[in-house]
Formats: sequence, structure tokens, C-alpha cells
Amino acid sequence: MNYKKPASIFAFAITVYLLLFLLTTVDAIAQDTNYVTFTAKGGDGIYKILHENGLTDPSCFNNFVGLNKNNLGKNNALIIGKKYKLPGQTTLPPDTTQKTEPVSLSEKMIVEPLFGKSLEHVEIVDQQLSGAVFYLVSGHGGPDPGAMGKIGKNILCEDEYAYDVTLRFGRELLRHAAKVYFIVRDPNDGIRNELYLKNSKDEVCYPDIEIPLNQVERLKQRVDAINTLYRNETPGTYKRCIEIHVDARDTKKNIDIFFYYHERSKNGERLASTMRNSIERKYQLKQPGRGYSGDVSTRSLYMLEKTMPTAVFIELGNINHARDQQRLIYENNRQALARWMCDGVMEDFKKSK
Ligand SMILES: [Zn+2]
Repeated sequence: MNYKKPASIFAFAITVYLLLFLLTTVDAIAQDTNYVTFTAKGGDGIYKILHENGLTDPSCFNNFVGLNKNNLGKNNALIIGKKYKLPGQTTLPPDTTQKTEPVSLSEKMIVEPLFGKSLEHVEIVDQQLSGAVFYLVSGHGGPDPGAMGKIGKNILCEDEYAYDVTLRFGRELLRHAAKVYFIVRDPNDGIRNELYLKNSKDEVCYPDIEIPLNQVERLKQRVDAINTLYRNETPGTYKRCIEIHVDARDTKKNIDIFFYYHERSKNGERLASTMRNSIERKYQLKQPGRGYSGDVSTRSLYMLEKTMPTAVFIELGNINHARDQQRLIYENNRQALARWMCDGVMEDFKKSK
């Protein structure tokens, strides 16, 4: 019969919660002379707060530290409950949800919301790819799922697996200071860890254009996006378009990762061969005796013919073959593919110098 006590505690908790909520809401837009201020909560850090408020200029970090140095903990940690000023802001922050390129927070940290909340902050670990520009295209997308395989009742769609590997690959390139454009983009998938990636039709083409169903229109749309971006970059520097697919063959035909380039592209041939040989060495190291039969060949493909940057087209395996499917469904395998491809690219970039 002792209901009253818990209920009143509950009511008290709600009141406190509401009060806190009101306080933080008011606080967020309170002006401290010329600055917007906020109160730090658990999990807040300077990069996170700057990013959330659209303060993307690299100078913002130092400005923030300068403005708030008396309230910062060790290594510029934010202290829960302390009030901080945002640099250079006298109005509410702009909406940053429509950003189409990774945002630089400092020389060491960028943000790419396409990777999803938990992986969007990318630490730049070295400068090995500094100056290189990549246009990454995952095959199909939007209304077109590409090839479809099956494991039990689960349908594997080419566009989803190609996209996940492409995001991971791009993230690796960014870690080495490359500039990366993701041409096919999903607003909410992020990098996923599940075995079976749910198919969605909401992918768009850079920057945020709906993808048509018609194949020629779809390919032309992405070529236009790539060539427009290409023209805006400094001429004469290392720029590569890398397109990632999953093939569909007979269920008995297992195929290793293989590459196409355009017959007149020497740079395309070098990139494809360098990536291929780099992957072969990884397999030798990780699975001695396995062998690796992925090849490099020319093929006249629309995406190889029409793109202005040197382009390479990669097929990750046969979506219908049980062994190839393992390469796709395990997130650590998708991550290894991404890292291996990145290593190959870094080798090719060195050769280009
Ligand atoms: Zn495809």
C-alpha cells in the first residue's frame, strides 16, 4: 500500500528534469555580450560542439580555446556544467545538415556526416595522400539495387554492399589527408556493421540529386557530377575516379576482386595493377596458399569512357557465390577490403610523383 512515495519521487524527478531542460534550452540561445554560450554536458568536446554549431573554419578551434581558456580542463577538455562561449557567433548557428563535403575542424580532424554519428569524426593520421583527389562511386543506388544475391531468406543488394565498402574506403583515404568526393550518397545509412544490409532507395547523386531509374540517365548524371567537380580542382594534380561494384555470376563461379580500366589510360592501368598487386600481397600474408586470381583488363564502360579523371572500375566478387558472399557480409571483411584498396592507392600515388 506504499504507492505514494515512489510516485512523489517520480513527480519530483520529472520536475527537476523539466527545469533542467528549460534551463539548457534557454541557455543555448542566451547571449553573453556578443557570444552564444552553451553549458557542457557529458560527452561534449570542442570538436563536437564546433561541428554541431556549424563552426567549420579551422581557426575556430583556437578561437574557442582562446575565448574559454579559464574554463578548460586537461588537454582542452570541456568540464561538465561549465558555460562556454562559441567563437564569432552573434546569431544562431546555420543548419549544417546539407553539407556535401567533409568539413575540416582542424588540421587533424574532419567531419563527414555520411559515415554516421559514431564514425563521422575522422582523424587525419598522416599526409601520405595530401594533394590527391578522389571521386568515389558505388555502383547503382536509388531505384536500382544492382545485382541481387541470396543467403537463406536474406537478399543481398549490390548497391548497399558496394556503398558500405565505398564509405569505408573513402574514410581510409581521408585519414591519409586525401580529398574525397562521395558521388553516390545515402542520407542516413552511414557505415554499417550488420551482416545483412537493408536495401533502401533513398540514395542520391552528388550533391543531392534524385537518381533516375533509366540506366543511361543515371550514369550520365554521375559523370556530370564528377566532371563538374574535376573542372573546379587545380589542373595537373593526382585525381582518380574509383567505381565499386559487386558482380553477379553463376552460383558456382567464385571470383576474386578484379579491375577494369580504359584501354587508352596508362594511369588507369597503373592504378588498377598497383591495387591488384597490393591485394595479392595481402592475401599471401593473411591466407598463405590461398592464391588470388583477380585480374586487370580493359573494358569499354560508360563510366570509364566519359569521366575526365583517370578511372578504375572494381568488382568485389560474385554476389551469388557462397565464398564471395563472406567477403561482403562480414563487416571486418568490408573494412579489410577498404584498407587494402587504400594501401594500393597510396602506392600508386607515390609512383605518380
Ligand atoms: Zn554493378
